[in-house]
Amino acid sequence: MFNKKVLSKGCVDFIDDTKIEALIKDTPEDAAKVREIIRKSLDKKPLSVEETAYLIKAESPELTEEIFEAARKLKRDVYGNRIVLFAPLYIGNYCINDCKYCAFRRSLRSTVRKTLNEKEVVDQVQALEDHGHKRLILVFGEHPDYSAEFIADTVRKVYSVKHGKGEIRRVNINAAPLDHEGYKIVKDSGIGTYQIFQETYHHETYRKNHPEETHKGDYLWRLDGLSRAFEAGCDDMGIGALFGLYDWRFEVLSLITHSLYLQEKYNVGPHTISFPRLRPAHGIDFDDKYLVNDYDFKRLVAILRLAVPYTGLILTARETAEVRREVMQFGVSQIDAGTRLELGGYSEDKKAEQELKREQFSIGDVRSLDEVMNELIKDGYIPSFCTSCYRLGRTGEHFMEYAIPGFINRFCTPNALLTLSEYLEDYASDQTKVEGYKLIEAEISRIDEEKIVNKLQERLNRIKKGERDLYF
Ligand code: SAM
Ligand code: SF4
Repeated sequence: MFNKKVLSKGCVDFIDDTKIEALIKDTPEDAAKVREIIRKSLDKKPLSVEETAYLIKAESPELTEEIFEAARKLKRDVYGNRIVLFAPLYIGNYCINDCKYCAFRRSLRSTVRKTLNEKEVVDQVQALEDHGHKRLILVFGEHPDYSAEFIADTVRKVYSVKHGKGEIRRVNINAAPLDHEGYKIVKDSGIGTYQIFQETYHHETYRKNHPEETHKGDYLWRLDGLSRAFEAGCDDMGIGALFGLYDWRFEVLSLITHSLYLQEKYNVGPHTISFPRLRPAHGIDFDDKYLVNDYDFKRLVAILRLAVPYTGLILTARETAEVRREVMQFGVSQIDAGTRLELGGYSEDKKAEQELKREQFSIGDVRSLDEVMNELIKDGYIPSFCTSCYRLGRTGEHFMEYAIPGFINRFCTPNALLTLSEYLEDYASDQTKVEGYKLIEAEISRIDEEKIVNKLQERLNRIKKGERDLYF
């Protein structure tokens, strides 16, 4: 696993702390400029780092409200009212790193360690399928046992599990950065997104949180992780920062820098951005200096939405149901639901309360998938399990082409409704089923093109008769 490190071609450390700090310090609050930038963003044009800094410095309540309103509008225009659902599946929590904020860090002897064996993976996937999940993200600590081959074998195992009418149609990965060879091996197993969070882009803070002698202590190896992934053929990448380690404004500008770097160098930006907030965890005692309050959290999500109109934003169950409800409207496209972090935690006999010695951190939203679905439907969102783009090869550069007006009406909304109806038929509670079909009817009545309505109705009927996995 730890061969000589080969970085991507022309790899540079593109995060210039001094430049970013100066942007935060020197950019003025300029209402006219902010409005001009909002207009550009509503035109669905990605913003530069400098433009994003103007949004960050817009602190007055009026301008902040304008940013919120623009983010709501952009979300509606680009993504419609769909929210894609997934679940994380922790495969193993052995770890050779010593990240200060994480309960899996190697020096924490009291953490209960475990790697799921094949049978346990199958059991967990069956349980997730029985809840109605179709999309998973597999999560790994960093350890020689979790080699690229191990990750790839686990992915193949997950795809092979079919239970009742259930199956997993997309497996994403959150694991340590690999070398080129490793990415190829994992890619061949059919993964969707490869997700790596830089945690903090601020060099000094990175050093403080990740001891230098550990594998993760190498800032550039991690920063370059998704560039190598791209070179090795993984064109579906997820970036992220762990908010609370350093100034949120610095992390937002760095995420945009990273996104633009990938876009310029490879012609493909990240597919998703994640913005986890630091959570309490077993054996963790963190400094609260940079913890992000709810108001700033809302601001940062809205600003990210405006800065990268076509990048998916992921909001996890680290947040409470209330925060998720609020923040979702500012441009979130994916959330996890029914989340359990304990290794083996999806089995029926497990309690909903967390046992922190066995888990990475405490979560804020412990509701079941059906409860979350129910609320989304009531709030007028279409919960979606769609995996169509990825399975039809609409990813990377091509995905960017498809992210155009009209595409949503023709493909995304119908696919969301088809996957929703599968859920309603197979897994929903009676109440969710009734509400869900009302939503489907209402959404169909909003589609203008008769041809699409007819095709959709025909497929919905086939799903009612027992067919599955129909998509456009
Ligand atoms: N070991 C891999 C790595 O470090 O890239 C996988 C990551 S870890 C299992 C998933 C993510 O959880 C980390 O990248 C980090 O951002 C986040 N995380 C760790 N500790 C956390 C905490 N206390 N609160 C919230 N998120 C945390
Ligand atoms: Fe290990 Fe990842 Fe936790 Fe760091 S964040 S200790 S690398 S599991």
